[in-house]
Amino acid sequence: MDALPSRPSFEKARHPDRGPEPIAPDCAGQNFYAIDRGLRDLLQLYLEPNDFRRLEPHFDRLGVLAGGRLDELARVADKHPPVLNPRDRFGRDEDWIDYHSSYREMEQIAFGDFQFHAMSHRPGTLGMDRPLPAVAKYALQYLFVQAEFGLMCPISVTDTSIHLVRKFASAELKDYLLPKMLSGDVATMWKGTQFMTERAGGSDVGAIETTARCEDGEWRLYGDKWFCSHADADVALLLARPEGAPDGTRGLALFALPRRLKSGRRNAYRIVRLKDKLGTRSMASGEILLEGAVAYLVGEAERGFKQMMEQVNLSRLSHGVRAAAMMRRCVNEAMVCARSRVAFGKTIIEYALLRRQLLKVIVPTEQALSMFLFTANAMDRANAGSKEAESLLRILTPLLKFRACRDNIPVATGAMEVRGGNGYIEEWVHARLIRDAHVGVLWEGTSNINALDIVTRAVGKSRAHRTLEAELKKLLDQATLIPAAFRDRLRLALDRTLAFAERVAADAALEASARQVASSLYHVTSAILMIWEAAQPGADARRSLYARFVLEHRLSAQDPLEPRYGEWERKAEEFVFSERQVLLAEIAGLLEA
Ligand SMILES: Cc1cc2nc3c(=O)[nH]c(=O)nc-3n(C[C@H](O)[C@H](O)[C@H](O)COP(=O)(O)OP(=O)(O)OC[C@H]3O[C@@H](n4cnc5c(N)ncnc54)[C@H](O)[C@@H]3O)c2cc1C
Repeated sequence: MDALPSRPSFEKARHPDRGPEPIAPDCAGQNFYAIDRGLRDLLQLYLEPNDFRRLEPHFDRLGVLAGGRLDELARVADKHPPVLNPRDRFGRDEDWIDYHSSYREMEQIAFGDFQFHAMSHRPGTLGMDRPLPAVAKYALQYLFVQAEFGLMCPISVTDTSIHLVRKFASAELKDYLLPKMLSGDVATMWKGTQFMTERAGGSDVGAIETTARCEDGEWRLYGDKWFCSHADADVALLLARPEGAPDGTRGLALFALPRRLKSGRRNAYRIVRLKDKLGTRSMASGEILLEGAVAYLVGEAERGFKQMMEQVNLSRLSHGVRAAAMMRRCVNEAMVCARSRVAFGKTIIEYALLRRQLLKVIVPTEQALSMFLFTANAMDRANAGSKEAESLLRILTPLLKFRACRDNIPVATGAMEVRGGNGYIEEWVHARLIRDAHVGVLWEGTSNINALDIVTRAVGKSRAHRTLEAELKKLLDQATLIPAAFRDRLRLALDRTLAFAERVAADAALEASARQVASSLYHVTSAILMIWEAAQPGADARRSLYARFVLEHRLSAQDPLEPRYGEWERKAEEFVFSERQVLLAEIAGLLEA
């Protein structure tokens, strides 16, 4: 492993004779698990106690890595993006991609040490005698992404490719692919990816032009894939239209495309070029030309799109988690800065306007944390056979992807602003957080596509909002420690949101309100989750204050010509920014005032 150029930490940079350093520190060297009170509390709620006990040392270890070595590696990898070599020195089109050693070391941590790609699929990762629950996997993704976002794409897409192969491939194809894909040996394992988007269609998947021809008993693919992240993966899951199949998504089949053939030769496709991207710069996204590449049909030819949607939905959940993670990094950075930077003789956290700015960073972050853990918990229950949980997952996944990815953008900018001018300088993490945040509203469906999925399919067709209603009302009833008046206001907000969602789902003329519906559903769900969480024995009660912020500022009418912030908020801030545990008895009055 190459040594990284060393950067002095804040403590080392401090000169003993000079007194306090005028520039506020960053989070270098912190344990991102230990400082995340919300995560620590909620993992105990959403994980089985035994699983929590066995996995906590790994959360802690990853927390240390994310605030330390991984963060350093990520910073360097971002500055040394991958390079495509289209030909070798003999003129053969044997393309390959060079990565900086910092990226390779991160791969070793992810695929070798933690084995993120395999943890849902087989026992034996992190010392567990069975696959990890979804809650644990996504909590680990959340810690990892607080340091490195780019590599989470190859990690997640390998995980989701394994899911598709396990669920849909023939026994023969499974025998061929799974041992390689599930391996923890980074030097020899096969990593996965997923190529759908073409020039003619990203959102409009049915417009895909890649064709599949059966030649001498083998499927061969011809076409041009326009966005291919993790472009040099060992096996890509992709959609193509078998010759003679119908137009639209109905005619698309799912294939597994190996990079190398069984003979060891390179398969007949080329990475034509790599994209020069705004963010995710450590990871290679390219364009791929399929020139009669050999591929294996996965599952039934007529069900390709439906099968691929399973991968898309898993990725959407991971994207929500990644947004939550990047927002948490923003909170950590903003808080450490706000508590140390001095202006006009006071630390900046003492200023009312700055505290308001911090709340706009904190509240969406806490909402996303509750939403992703609840969604992952629904996945665990669905995997155990619950039909209700399956229906819940149907609506929660696009809700999380839609809103958390959108919130990530203003949160990243808000945290940069807390740091002032230094936040704009590439040596600090904020510029990368801002660049990386934006891709969340594009891949695996733009905001519009996710909002339409929620309204037309999850609400209109699947009626999953009714399962969500039942679940949320149960939680409201259980949260008896929360003042009844506040729970009644949330119950009313829920009823109104559901009626609004049904109205929009039933009337095509209201389609332009789909995003408003999606946001309201997300806000009311997260607010109810947060009061339920706050009411658990031993929990930190400040989550119920976040719920009130959501109710007042996201789900209630406001007069733009009146002050937005009342007396209760000034008092609530004292608790939000205190560094100790907050008890319900102390703040119950603030939920009613
Ligand atoms: C860095 C990066 C990496 C990527 N990696 C991959 C990858 O590995 N694999 C892969 O398959 N794809 C990948 N993508 C592609 C990504 O999924 C698509 O860009 C995305 O789905 C949008 O498709 P599009 O670019 O064709 O935009 P379009 O579909 O043309 O959309 C353009 C605009 O029209 C809107 N729009 C479209 N239809 C509707 C509608 N019915 N109603 C309202 N508005 C609508 C969209 O919301 C968007 O705002 C990647 C993209 C990026 C930026």
